[in-house]
Amino acid sequence: MARIQLLSLSQDELLSFVKEDLGESAFRAKQIAEWLARGASIDEMTNLSAKLRASMNEIAVADPVRIMEVFPSKIDETEKFLYALEDGNIIEGVIMRYHHGDTLCVSTQVGCRMGCAFCASTLDGRVRDLTPGEILGQVVCVNRYIREKDASRRVHNIVLMGSGEPLDNYDNVIKFLRLVNAPEGLNISLRNISLSTCGLVPRMHALAREGLPVTLSVSLHAPNDAIRRQIMPVANAYPIDQLIAACRDYVENTGRRVVFEYALIKGVNDSLECADELAGLLRGLQCHVNLIPLNDVKERSLHAPDRRAVDAFLKRLGQRSVSATVRREMGADIDGACGQLRRKVIGGAK
Ligand code: SAH
Repeated sequence: MARIQLLSLSQDELLSFVKEDLGESAFRAKQIAEWLARGASIDEMTNLSAKLRASMNEIAVADPVRIMEVFPSKIDETEKFLYALEDGNIIEGVIMRYHHGDTLCVSTQVGCRMGCAFCASTLDGRVRDLTPGEILGQVVCVNRYIREKDASRRVHNIVLMGSGEPLDNYDNVIKFLRLVNAPEGLNISLRNISLSTCGLVPRMHALAREGLPVTLSVSLHAPNDAIRRQIMPVANAYPIDQLIAACRDYVENTGRRVVFEYALIKGVNDSLECADELAGLLRGLQCHVNLIPLNDVKERSLHAPDRRAVDAFLKRLGQRSVSATVRREMGADIDGACGQLRRKVIGGAK
């Protein structure tokens, strides 16, 4: 039988684990919770007796995600991680140091089944969903790693922009959001968390009603259905009008603006006509557009436009009163784009 992942448990669930599975009293739950938030393994929980730790090890695991390898950028302070999961799967993540604090990009699935034409994470499909504890495990182990280097650092912001489609693993992602926000845990503000989706419309409506004020990022990448369907299969299931309506619903229910991600792809979605159409589509919506020059993916012949075309696109959006910026590239030398590093390691990309 698989061992219980302690990081997946809510406070109440941890309490009943301590009482019922371990036969211990309630204060042990508090001790264990403190260790969990610090990224400790069961063996490191030294205020528990060796006997108790041994019996815990048989039925539970505290650190379901372990850093296998770190790839520091030589250009900036970005670091990329490969993590090992208990079942031998490998996932990746990246920490970026911004002036407003450390931002960690986390994965929500091993692989992805959304099939976006430009994305490396989806090339081998979805292997499995990550558990709440495996999503949280990425945060606690990187938090520990950066604090060991510099005690003034901590994971301040989280973006759910690694491998996987968060809303395709809805229940586990919602539980993760509640766990990471818990005062007894890492206590990270939901306002410092961005959830990025390719646009699973019914789940966007559901998220708007969870009472979790995260920033919703929507991977739009096209101003109309015809172009969107060429690069994102999900656009066949949910037309762009329904997607924008779901964004309006999110703004109305949460009071938070929506961020649109728009990866500029040469000859596909980078014309000034596209910029005009995009401005029309977003008129009256509280939003911001993040323009991302495409990270070339070797397996596909899709490329970024040159810098002048990117600037012209940005300028045109500005003229149409759309709030937009070009995303700063970080960790360019360490395969910053999602899914690329893992593929290199597991042998997918040659
Ligand atoms: N599944 C979610 C989150 C993961 S991807 C989503 O689709 O939003 C995070 C962001 O990176 C998405 O906007 C995705 O479209 C974008 N992305 C994927 N591959 C990319 C590439 N090669 N270049 C630029 N952005 C890419």
